[in-house]
Amino acid sequence: MVTTQDLYQVGQMPPVGQVPKQMHASVIRPDRFGDPIKAFQTEVVDVPELKADEVLVYVMAAGVNYNNVWAALGTPLDVVKVHEKEGDPSGFHIGGSDLSGVVFAKGSEVTNVKIGDHVVGHCGYWDSDDPWIKDGGDQMVAPSAKIWGYETNYGSFAQFAKIQGHQLLPKPERLTWEEAAAYMLVGATAERMLFGWAPHTVRENDVVLIWGGSGGLGSMAIQLAKDAGAIPIAVVSSESKYEWCTTLGAKGCINRKDFDHWGVMPHWTDTEAYGKWAAGARSFGKAIWDIVGERRNPRIVFEHPGEDTVPTSIFVCDNGGMVVICAGTTGYNAVADLRYLWMRQKRFQGSHFANDAQATSLNDKIAAGRIDPSMGDVFSFDEVGKAHQLMHENKHSEGNMVILVGAPKRGLKDLP
Ligand code: NAP
Repeated sequence: MVTTQDLYQVGQMPPVGQVPKQMHASVIRPDRFGDPIKAFQTEVVDVPELKADEVLVYVMAAGVNYNNVWAALGTPLDVVKVHEKEGDPSGFHIGGSDLSGVVFAKGSEVTNVKIGDHVVGHCGYWDSDDPWIKDGGDQMVAPSAKIWGYETNYGSFAQFAKIQGHQLLPKPERLTWEEAAAYMLVGATAERMLFGWAPHTVRENDVVLIWGGSGGLGSMAIQLAKDAGAIPIAVVSSESKYEWCTTLGAKGCINRKDFDHWGVMPHWTDTEAYGKWAAGARSFGKAIWDIVGERRNPRIVFEHPGEDTVPTSIFVCDNGGMVVICAGTTGYNAVADLRYLWMRQKRFQGSHFANDAQATSLNDKIAAGRIDPSMGDVFSFDEVGKAHQLMHENKHSEGNMVILVGAPKRGLKDLP
């Protein structure tokens, strides 16, 4: 029998440090894999136990990211099977890879936070004893690296989240709980993409082409490039998104619907079809020059749509420049004309989330007010599925969507 002390209603905060037995969580189960609107269901589950390096955070707000669209669909990874392989018998997935909240409990090895601290969490999860990391290797390249709240269970779509201590950073005081949950996953990913791959780090006056400029990643990339003194150019699918991107710092925007050469490019031996594709790619390149005001190609291309756009990204990238990619939202078969890659000595670089230092760098820029969290629509806890469905259908509004969990209303920067 569950007593009132064992379970609190969503939005009703227990005394700081008092952990109830159970919690409300938005749960995905394999028999519901499919459209996010149905896959996520609110259930009551046990509050998880902690390992020595883990922290239990009372979640005030949780950010919505594309990874839990994939989790809901059950593809390309069955995340519940991933948890099972790690010895987790729960049979469910609680997603959510961005949070703001309050520290309620911690394992014996955690020294960087104390009970009651107001924190945000980044989603880089790894084994601190991983030999790769002990040898000084980049944490996100380590064999043990995972995305917390996607490849791990007990993310932020619940009253309590289980997270490693090193993932926690101070919540910027200037932000509300919902703003603080909006930016970290996409922001730190963009930070690594734009500044983590020397010598191709964004420099003053570089032209930077940013796909999906009004989306989560794109909104952060525009601001980070602008903050470094570069010239961001955003690609979007509607002129209604131009104002959002230019307000964030884009010099101009290109409407991808004005072109039709997307998708896997034709074979080079099919002269007619290839010529048509090349004409489309060239006119897209000219649209970039028109915005820059001179015939200058992007030194950095910020990629994530993948199959639909990679051929064009590699084509328009400047000689000696870099296409940096962190996803293949439209598909994984990225075909490119290799002549442009080797003759013009371009780099095609994969990138995945961020290490502790990159997440801290991003958080510092946000705390200092140099970068806005780009918060989009805010949803209530029972709308986790709805928010992910909108994202799945690319019908969400600009910026990063957020779910209010423990925060009883919008606009609070401190405890209610
Ligand atoms: P998002 O907020 O949905 O933004 C993606 C944008 O891509 C959309 O706003 C859309 O803008 C654009 N887009 C959609 N279809 C397109 C197409 N066919 N061609 C060109 N652009 C298209 O999502 P996000 O948070 O930015 O994430 C984007 C992808 O990156 C997802 O697959 C996500 O899983 C991945 N991701 C990976 C990492 C990592 O660490 N590896 C981190 C964050 C995100 P328009 O319709 O206006 O063009």
